[in-house]
Amino acid sequence: MFFKKRCNHQRSYKVEADFADPIWCAECNWNIDIDDLPISEELKKDFVKWVVEYQKEMSLLKEQESEHFQEFVSKHNDEGRRLTERLIRELGENISITFVPVSEL
Ligand SMILES: [Zn+2]
Repeated sequence: MFFKKRCNHQRSYKVEADFADPIWCAECNWNIDIDDLPISEELKKDFVKWVVEYQKEMSLLKEQESEHFQEFVSKHNDEGRRLTERLIRELGENISITFVPVSEL
């Protein structure tokens, strides 16, 4: 990724938790710096919280029972959908935004 030029699309984003900021360009997969988006501090904070919980959970995954993981994934996806809705409301409808859920096992 680092050899690519900075993304200039700003037309379609996707929301997906990973070990980076959770908003990506849907066209080139550029990881968008959440601080570059014209959104409220509150929404940024909630996105960061959401992704930090995901990262914590993923790093513990090997020690966990699958039942607990299922529960986590379904809560994580629900919250991700809510955050995506808020992002759409704040950025306006000119940008297409899709949520990419973690697949349930
Ligand atoms: Zn792009």
